[in-house]
Amino acid sequence: MEPEEPESALETARRQLHHAATYLDLDSNIVERLKYPDQVHEVTVPIERDDGSVEAFTGYRAQHDDARGPYKGGLRYHPEVTRDECVGLGMWMTWKCAVMDIPFGGAKGGIAVNSKDLSTAEKERLTRRFTEEMRNMIGPNQDIPAPDMGTNPQTMAWLMDAYSMQEGETMPGVVTGKPPLVGGSEGREEAPGRSVAIITRAVCEYYERSLSDTTIAIQGYGSVGANAARSLDDWGATIVAISDVNGAMYDPTGIDTQTVPSHDEEPEAVTRYADEVISNDELLELDVDVLIPAALGNVITEANANAIQADIVIEGANGPITSAADTILSEREIPVIPDILANAGGVTVSYFEWLQDISRRAWSFERVQDELETEMVAAWDDVRTEFERQDVSWRDAAYIVALSRIAEAHAIRGLWP
Ligand code: NAD
Repeated sequence: MEPEEPESALETARRQLHHAATYLDLDSNIVERLKYPDQVHEVTVPIERDDGSVEAFTGYRAQHDDARGPYKGGLRYHPEVTRDECVGLGMWMTWKCAVMDIPFGGAKGGIAVNSKDLSTAEKERLTRRFTEEMRNMIGPNQDIPAPDMGTNPQTMAWLMDAYSMQEGETMPGVVTGKPPLVGGSEGREEAPGRSVAIITRAVCEYYERSLSDTTIAIQGYGSVGANAARSLDDWGATIVAISDVNGAMYDPTGIDTQTVPSHDEEPEAVTRYADEVISNDELLELDVDVLIPAALGNVITEANANAIQADIVIEGANGPITSAADTILSEREIPVIPDILANAGGVTVSYFEWLQDISRRAWSFERVQDELETEMVAAWDDVRTEFERQDVSWRDAAYIVALSRIAEAHAIRGLWP
């Protein structure tokens, strides 16, 4: 058998668009339109290196669709950033915002650079110059970037400062994921993991499992994995395995998740705290009630999908299951809860951050947690209703909810001119 070549983000986004459209009575012109981004900006970003030489990098911002509100999506610094990857990931953001019913469209951008090769001062110069090159395309009512691979709250603070300097006023709403001191939101860091936990709890309830009788294995112990693990541990679930890039900690009696440092607290330390270490591949194949891949894309493939023993899989990472593996899990009747719903807490709290910025009023951590819970439960209810009505997979149900909202917005707005 030929080894499976994982789809690109753009191929996945287009395939899922077409698949969801088959369940809906939509104007085919709208579906055709959604296959393409509204626009893609490509810029050259020259910076002076610390040794005095000048180097030029290529940056992109793909704006997919803004029928429901300003474009929203991450900005990554990674050597493999390409135009098509930004388009594909921007489309995913359109679906993610729509399934959450957040009034944003989708975008993604990045610079093809290895950020580890740059000093802090070089990263700052790169970010400021990129912001200036993109200044006419971004803005609180136009397109709002956020951190992604290779970027962080500091990058967003520089971007906000560069934009604000040129506009002549402080405009925190131009980016989200900033440090709270300059308009960032409390609870943003915890949000994607928290949403994974809220959705896991709802799914367990749906399948009539009490969390106190549920065993869970989680791959990745970073922002998503560790926060999901700790919330679920607090709510009574038994977390039997967690992992990082070095391997997995396994304890069938349950791990005390507070005592193991997350990636942010002490990078790649999970196995150092473990009595029993297993491999990441073994973690994925454990006989648990719930499996949460929350580290990387494409970890469940044609090669291991038949070996998955979990009863339910919740996608914590973006795209952890290849298309062939998704088909196998579906044939094996293992419910898979899709990333665009499960980890959407990140973009939801980004929306809260933007609301706080434009109204100049900070929310408490408790308010963020409460409102996140409300939004996640509402989105879960919408997806569950579609799942029951159409007799489709959870993934299809989420895409149907998202696409129907986007298509309705296009239909009501009509075509310009
Ligand atoms: P992170 O950098 O905070 O943590 C990643 C974790 O995965 C670390 O524990 C790391 O050791 C582990 N890891 C790395 N390579 C691994 C490997 N080969 N095998 C096993 N574990 C490995 O990252 P994160 O923010 O938690 O993101 C994880 C996933 O969730 C990514 O797919 C990301 O795109 C997605 N996601 C993140 C957010 C967010 O806002 N942080 C939002 C939505 C989706």
